[in-house]
Amino acid sequence: MNPLTGRWVAVATDRAARPSDLVSRPEPTIADATQPCPFCPGNEEATPPALETYDRGGQWTVRVLPNRYPAFDGDEVLHVSHLGPVFTEAMGSGIHEVLVFTPEHKASFAELDDKQVAVTMAALRDRLEAHSRRPVVRYTQAILNHGRDAGASLEHPHAQLLGIPFVPGEIADEEAGFGRFGGPCLLCTTLEAEEDAGHRVVHADERVVVICPFWAGIPYEMLVLPRDHQAHIVDTSPRDITAVGRAIRDVLAKLHSCIGPTSYNVVFHTAPHRSAAPFHWHAHIWPRVTSIAGFEQGTGVLINILAPELAATHLAVS
Ligand SMILES: [Zn+2]
Ligand SMILES: [Zn+2]
Ligand SMILES: [Zn+2]
Repeated sequence: MNPLTGRWVAVATDRAARPSDLVSRPEPTIADATQPCPFCPGNEEATPPALETYDRGGQWTVRVLPNRYPAFDGDEVLHVSHLGPVFTEAMGSGIHEVLVFTPEHKASFAELDDKQVAVTMAALRDRLEAHSRRPVVRYTQAILNHGRDAGASLEHPHAQLLGIPFVPGEIADEEAGFGRFGGPCLLCTTLEAEEDAGHRVVHADERVVVICPFWAGIPYEMLVLPRDHQAHIVDTSPRDITAVGRAIRDVLAKLHSCIGPTSYNVVFHTAPHRSAAPFHWHAHIWPRVTSIAGFEQGTGVLINILAPELAATHLAVS
């Protein structure tokens, strides 16, 4: 049982007939050869003006841009209209930004150096703070999609921030999980219990622990837990947020050496803006090594064909 979401997970390890069942080749993202990459240095004119630029030695290292095709946009407060007994709608107000976290077209998050990780994580934090000042934005989802199987549409490495005018179901479910838990904090307790158990820990340093959680729903799923209990990423110290970035970089590199090039999603979960409800911010890493089929879609129950203990062992020796 995943105590964050309250959903059951099935572990069915004999379904993995061949090791190749677990490996997805990251299909290259579709590159339009007639268009130069809008995120490469020298092509800055191809994008809307940057909202924020971070420089080193006269060269930008991280750029934050408005998404040219925003999924959420504008400052109109959430006004819900009922157009019929079952037709409810509201304006998709909010913010949709792209965070280009390296000038290098062929790099990936797993290959960033320490300084580049620090700037990227500082930029992420700065943007979350800017979002939290916009009354219309209730929650911001920061994501990193790598590879076409994970939904990346442009090859140049980048993250996205979507500031949305409501608290999405997944976060509401996790908030309920924190509320349901009897102890002081669900994820502080998880961190302690997983360190005691030991065999699902993939990375541990003085600031961050990364585990293949007991309730992993997909092969090589990882949960990144900062030791410092904070509900909001913006309340985290620069050292802690940098340490989280480096831990993610390191475990993605392990994933790569373990199963080769793979599409994945990195998803940051932080408390909704201005919320005081119990939460402990964290990141999920979901490699795209298997596909979600009808049973998973129909029931919300994931069938994991690789036990998290084994996944952690594979990653540890990589
Ligand atoms: Zn590029
Ligand atoms: Zn906690
Ligand atoms: Zn979460």
